[in-house]
Amino acid sequence: MGTVKFNTAAEAHLKLDQQKCRACEERVCLQVCPAGNYEENEADPREIVLSWEGCLECGTCRLACPHGAIEWNYPVGGKGVCYRYG
Ligand code: SF4
Ligand code: SF4
Repeated sequence: MGTVKFNTAAEAHLKLDQQKCRACEERVCLQVCPAGNYEENEADPREIVLSWEGCLECGTCRLACPHGAIEWNYPVGGKGVCYRYG
């Protein structure tokens, strides 16, 4: 993680359907994201907080979510993660 930089876009490129998250039992997003970008809201654990600003654009969460709750796009206009070594 120390070798990547982020050029953060103004708008989120990942969006969650919180209704699906509230009903979700598996909650695999909490386990699969290599950057740990998914967390339960401390004040309301059925809600998922997504820190899209630190996204590595690997696509794992989109494939892993069993309920299709993640609207996944690449960041706009060359924004997002920048890998310095390939
Ligand atoms: S993103 Fe998918 S896996 Fe994560 S809580 Fe929502 S529905 Fe469940
Ligand atoms: S695309 Fe990868 S790094 Fe980004 S939020 Fe999903 S699992 Fe995490």
